[in-house]
Amino acid sequence: MEFNISVIYGDGIGPEIIDSGIRVLNKIEEVYGHKFNIDRALLGGEAIDELGSPIPNETIDKCIKSDAVLLGAVGGPKWDHLKGSERPEAGLLGLRKALGVYANIRPAILFEELKEASPLKSSLIKDNIDICIVRELTGGIYFGEKGKEENEAYDVERYNREEIRRIAKTAFDMAMNRNKKVTSIDKANVLESSKLWRQVVEEVAKDYKEVELEHMYIDNGAMQLVRQPANFDVILTNNIFGDILSDEASAIVGSIGVLPSASLGEGVGLYEPIHGSAPDIAGENKANPIGTILSICLMMKNSLGLYKEGTKIEEAVKEVLKKGYRTGDIMSDNNKLVGTREMTDLIIEEIK
Ligand code: ATP
Ligand code: MG
Repeated sequence: MEFNISVIYGDGIGPEIIDSGIRVLNKIEEVYGHKFNIDRALLGGEAIDELGSPIPNETIDKCIKSDAVLLGAVGGPKWDHLKGSERPEAGLLGLRKALGVYANIRPAILFEELKEASPLKSSLIKDNIDICIVRELTGGIYFGEKGKEENEAYDVERYNREEIRRIAKTAFDMAMNRNKKVTSIDKANVLESSKLWRQVVEEVAKDYKEVELEHMYIDNGAMQLVRQPANFDVILTNNIFGDILSDEASAIVGSIGVLPSASLGEGVGLYEPIHGSAPDIAGENKANPIGTILSICLMMKNSLGLYKEGTKIEEAVKEVLKKGYRTGDIMSDNNKLVGTREMTDLIIEEIK
């Protein structure tokens, strides 16, 4: 089959990990006989440098017309002097908004092979950790009204019923295909927006009688996630809490470098690793490409209908980990240290 894929390299380690991703796509083409038409689009810092805007119109046009979008990461110290809508991050938020991808799906699975990379003591991770974070992505405090005066600044957290209803529905649908449990995380003891969140989630839950719904405050949720990670299945939460909890979940399962994400809405899906542009290791062949490669799995399964191919990539990643190869971020004693390119070579070799 033939697919059009928009690819955004981005900044920092973006070009390195996207190079890995494209090589995986090329190998899938070769083994399964598909055709991926890869069309490069600019976003964030590279778009500011080349086209003078963090989110050029041509990028939105390209992405909207494609079957899926693969994104590295944007931002870095080079653009630190810029403000608000001129910043690289504004490009990323703008793209998510333009594509209407309100549901950010972040699976955090502890691979058997990475148990020693988890900072949790083994008694806490003896059970299978397989969490799916469903984070609201196009609303909340990241998109609310902002202001800055000389000695005061503010950001508004605002959600309407429809925004909450559709993300809650995504989480409950997901739970139906998993273990039928949703933990909704909010701060309803303090925030009005969280009170409405809880109310609407309760309403949506009525249509999913088989799903067990539990509510947790964010402070307690953050604590329970490290105390009893295996108790979570689907976590439903807002934009900012989801941002924070998914970094926490990534540490529990080994490294921020291995977690993929899918951002879904009514149209095109956007796929990116959960980490940022990691300027501290950019250009050094140190970045873990697994988060990006697993994002391609999610793309295959969610947007392209290539289930078998997606599973194959996942198996290839596990096989390489089983053989003891690690990038620096997941390295422990007795493993073999490899760089971004070598890790990619090894994974590609397993796709046959
Ligand atoms: P953002 O605001 O874009 O989310 P961030 O400030 O949260 O970015 P990251 O870029 O995610 O930061 O980096 C956080 C830390 O994790 C850095 O030390 C970085 O080197 C490391 N890191 C991020 N991605 C990877 C990766 N793929 N492989 C190895 N280490 C990584
Ligand atoms: Mg971050």
